[in-house]
Amino acid sequence: MSTTTSAAMATPQATATVRPLGILAALPQELGDLIDAMRAESGVHTVTHGRRDYHVGSVRGTPCVVTLARVGKVAAAATASALIHAFDVEAIVFTGVAGGVSRDVHVGDIVVASTLLQHDIDASPLFPRFEVPLLGMSRFSTDTALAERLAAACERFVAEEGAACAARFGTREPRVHRGLIVSGDQFVASAAAVGALRDALPDALAVEMEGAALAQVCYEYGVPCAVVRTISDTADDHAPTSFMSFLTEIAGTYSNAILARFLDAPRGAG
Ligand code: SAH
Repeated sequence: MSTTTSAAMATPQATATVRPLGILAALPQELGDLIDAMRAESGVHTVTHGRRDYHVGSVRGTPCVVTLARVGKVAAAATASALIHAFDVEAIVFTGVAGGVSRDVHVGDIVVASTLLQHDIDASPLFPRFEVPLLGMSRFSTDTALAERLAAACERFVAEEGAACAARFGTREPRVHRGLIVSGDQFVASAAAVGALRDALPDALAVEMEGAALAQVCYEYGVPCAVVRTISDTADDHAPTSFMSFLTEIAGTYSNAILARFLDAPRGAG
């Protein structure tokens, strides 16, 4: 908790019946202009909790708590837990970049998770590889309606701005994919490593470092979540340079465009 403001006191629930949406990313570039947009629309009330800043306000009429998890599964799990317990969020959306794993997923494409799995969890032979011990699960589902609404926002963005984005950034025309995203505490950056992931998990579309941890926490607390990832690299030997240039030049553009359309869509609508 910050010394001046208790997160519980700052919870919008205390003053209004609408519970906020949690919006989460790992790195600042992945949030685009979201916090500035909130500042312009409603003003921002910032609460420091567990060494993270939670920005409370509204964006496009939706009460939101926006924060950065930083990188990795522990960071994502801790931040998701705080969003649930200290800010009483109704749902959580994660926006960010990822490495493409499927050969069909290219830099500039967008992947919306239907399920997520921790590719580095392995308590075999005691438990099957990828299973979270004692929970008996390896794949965690996102919320169907939320993922549908997020994917529809991505499709609208691609239809309206995809060609212009491709020309501007020198990528292929973006496509939207839906399916399995895998997460682990490694930046995957070699042909061998991404090939091993492809072999072990043939339906994996993309790899990143946070989503499956968020999905596990949300499953455990019964909070709906969704994850959208723009492909910054293909998790091979070119990944470090591709990731860095995508992150600095493109990630914010995608995030702004997708979140605007997502927040403008009526709730429950695809
Ligand atoms: N602090 C560093 C490292 C970021 S790690 C930096 O800013 O340069 C990469 C981040 O992007 C993670 O949050 C992860 O979720 C995502 N990501 C993108 N490409 C990835 C890949 N090939 N493997 C794993 N994570 C990837």
